[in-house]
Amino acid sequence: MEVHNPATGEEVGRVTVDSADEVAAKVDRLRQHQPEWEAIGPAGRKRWLLKLQDWLIDNTDHLADVLQSETGKPRMDALIDPGFAVDLIGYYARRAGKFLADEHPSPHSPLARVKRLTTVYRPYPVVGVITPWNFPLAMPALDVIPALAAGAAVLLKPSEVTPLSALELARGWSEIGAPPVLSVSTGAAETGAAVVNTVDYVQFTGSTRTGRAIAAACAERLVPYSLELGGKDPALVLADADLDRAAYGIAFGGLFNAGQVCISVERVYVEAPVYDEFVTKLTEHVRELRQGADGRESRYDIGALASHAQRDVVTRHVDDAIAKGARAVTGGRPTGVGTFFEPTVLVDVDHGMACMTEETFGPTLPVMKVADEAEAVALANDSIYGLSASVWTGDRARGERIARQLDAGAVNVNDVFANLFNFALPMGGWQQSGVGARWGGAEGLRKYCRKQAVTAPILPTQQKELFWFPYSTRKLGFALTAMRAAGARGLRRLGVRDVINTVGGKGK
Ligand code: NAD
Repeated sequence: MEVHNPATGEEVGRVTVDSADEVAAKVDRLRQHQPEWEAIGPAGRKRWLLKLQDWLIDNTDHLADVLQSETGKPRMDALIDPGFAVDLIGYYARRAGKFLADEHPSPHSPLARVKRLTTVYRPYPVVGVITPWNFPLAMPALDVIPALAAGAAVLLKPSEVTPLSALELARGWSEIGAPPVLSVSTGAAETGAAVVNTVDYVQFTGSTRTGRAIAAACAERLVPYSLELGGKDPALVLADADLDRAAYGIAFGGLFNAGQVCISVERVYVEAPVYDEFVTKLTEHVRELRQGADGRESRYDIGALASHAQRDVVTRHVDDAIAKGARAVTGGRPTGVGTFFEPTVLVDVDHGMACMTEETFGPTLPVMKVADEAEAVALANDSIYGLSASVWTGDRARGERIARQLDAGAVNVNDVFANLFNFALPMGGWQQSGVGARWGGAEGLRKYCRKQAVTAPILPTQQKELFWFPYSTRKLGFALTAMRAAGARGLRRLGVRDVINTVGGKGK
């Protein structure tokens, strides 16, 4: 399979396409090595993960070169991926011991105090990680690292559009001499489907359409999964907002990585009194942005789209909006070079247009005037998606109050993407934006584990427990009365009501 630079069309690499048999063979090998990986525990794994972190830092320039070659990103966008991975490794490698430690919950009833209770976190042996093309190194790393930290082995299936960076990640893992618990299978949908059919847990990031197919396949096999899917994130600009910050923040939130970010700002609602001023500020700023393909020297803000297919989606959304009465106050067309599309601000838009309802995943910012906060919230919630949102206001309490009215997995007040860079928070989408959370705090590791309940006696044991055979009314009656005494309310607790019923001839 050939890999191309979308900015120039140049072929930059070739990868093999793994068949179902090759995928199964890789999973078998991972299964053999995983028990040892689990056995070295969080402290042993931390050593390898921090070595990988060093490798990523030492190889950042090379990694950014590879990443630019397969995406057409500007240098600054390309440098985000290794930096993000380094940060996440630090978080999970150092906290895995605490997050995965055995827990000893208090027994729910005094009767159960005769046991020591333990919840043990045991990893799924092999986790399949399937990723999209928008961040070819970060997307794989952000899922591979927590799964490895949890003690699972990982088979990674990167996007067929951008497989080279994922192969670099695996090269780094073997170059540091780490145990062979990370493999990559390159290929397209069929290879991905083979991964889903073989692993013990599926972590998927990509489109809602593919996510649905993966969920169905996992249901068939009864294996668990977590899905991070598409989004149509709204930004709500209220009349009391700092409009300069809102314009800069929303321009970055919508156009970073040429808009190819799951949590990019895809639609903007602005309260009527500040609408004109906001649109002027946003447009002036977007017009200043520099677009093009650079190398190691950082010269541009916005790069190419990842594929011709992606550029065609963006073109369709903008053309549809303009045909229905919208105006492009800046941009609005493909540049004619490679897959570049001009950074675009659209006005006079409404929810009858694809640009306000379907995921665009491109450098467009459609802006709509709303009467007030209530209309902004209602329109923001008028979506099948629910990944994240932003609220721009001069009043933090108001922003936090509005956040609780929005149907989204994350809300940033006066900022974009901030939730993504705070690993202690869950990163998950609501509605058709996902199932489960991709990472975040202890749950980000525990999701890759099966919880095991272990009980062991604290006191010396008798030959038999009260419940065991043969049944005896006296022993069983005593046990049931004790259970009721521990759990029930009022007279029922003491069994007095039963006594009264029996004496009164009502029986039980
Ligand atoms: P995609 O769904 O087309 O492909 C994603 C991955 O799934 C690729 O590796 C692909 O080969 C694989 N795949 C395709 N069909 C498969 C199947 N039947 N079984 C198993 N694997 C299969 O998505 P894409 O076009 O690569 O990425 C863009 C999408 O990803 C957008 O919708 C975007 O919103 C979403 N995304 C979401 C997040 C998030 O965190 N929520 C992050 C990045 C991208």
